[in-house]
Amino acid sequence: MQSFNPPVRTLMGSGPSDVHPRILSAMAKPTIGHLDPIFIAMMDEIKEGLKTIFKTDNKLTMPISAPGSAGMEACFTNLVEPNDKVIICINGVFGMRMKENVTRLGGKAIIVKDNWGEAISTDKLEHALKNNPNANIVAFVHAETSTGAQSDVKTLCKLAHQYDCITIVDAVTSLGGTELYVDEWEIDAIYSGTQKCLSAMPGISLISFGKRAIQKLNTRKTSVNSWFLDLNLIMNYWNGDSKRTYHHTAPVNMLYGLHESLVMILEEGIENSWVRHKKNHELLKNGLEAMNINFLVNKKDRLPQLNSVLIPKGFDDEKIRSILLNDYNLEISAGLGAYTGKIWRIGLMGYSSRKENIVLCLSALKEILR
Ligand code: PLP
Repeated sequence: MQSFNPPVRTLMGSGPSDVHPRILSAMAKPTIGHLDPIFIAMMDEIKEGLKTIFKTDNKLTMPISAPGSAGMEACFTNLVEPNDKVIICINGVFGMRMKENVTRLGGKAIIVKDNWGEAISTDKLEHALKNNPNANIVAFVHAETSTGAQSDVKTLCKLAHQYDCITIVDAVTSLGGTELYVDEWEIDAIYSGTQKCLSAMPGISLISFGKRAIQKLNTRKTSVNSWFLDLNLIMNYWNGDSKRTYHHTAPVNMLYGLHESLVMILEEGIENSWVRHKKNHELLKNGLEAMNINFLVNKKDRLPQLNSVLIPKGFDDEKIRSILLNDYNLEISAGLGAYTGKIWRIGLMGYSSRKENIVLCLSALKEILR
């Protein structure tokens, strides 16, 4: 074996996005013990930083030592008990994974289907809530990475609460890239990841639980079906106020990376980060439309950080993406499910959301699609 030397790519796909050099160098700092008081002080800063970007005062806000999918599992495993009725609004791939979580936990999944590429319909959710008076959880994805559509979290949460349901929201692609207010929108449990709009490495998820979710967790009749993700246990490490106890060996250097990414996003200001994502989306959109490349999602529901566009007629999806990768070191993503071969997903997330990346992407496409 020899040392691995990856090429330098520009990551404009569905994630991971480009990792900022400051975050890469933060991760190269010397590893210290995960119970070292200096490390614990850094953990406290991470929790405060996460609360700021999630826009919440939730005490139970912390990273989970595993990728976004573990954040998803942490929410479902801790909140869903056997026979719980969970309404899941599905408008893409990641909603389907929520269903998988619920059924594996012995819960009953009630599916509200929406078209891929469209926002979740509040009318359909209301209909499902009326027809299932004993449902106790509503789950949905804020920013569907498989299509680039965003949904109205505030209205969906309000509706769920009118019918005494708590909410689980996937914010893996939305956090940092688009408006998100956990407390103001009364989101009960939320998870996100580091590898999209936070400009950081993949492999860590971020969760936040509010009062209603903690009450559901505290009044469980059965124990949580996972040792690693049982928040009652993890909290002794992340939330133990003065005395922290060993739960698992924290990914020390990854947490340096997360810490630096929070420092950077707070320097920029979370609201300014939303504005940057929006402005760069406009720039990309104007360039693509000038080339007669059209968007899948209607203007109102479009995510600025994930641009799904229809592949122009007569061009081969895989061939174009492989030219971009091999000749331009530029990664964009393919469509999924019914959109395989029909759309490209162009990400403008975190550190990837930069003018120079847009110029590269537009000029490369212009040359190839000539
Ligand atoms: N949810 C959404 C909306 C995602 O886009 C992703 C990953 O792309 C995930 C969940 C899963 O995250 P991970 O791949 O880090 O496990």
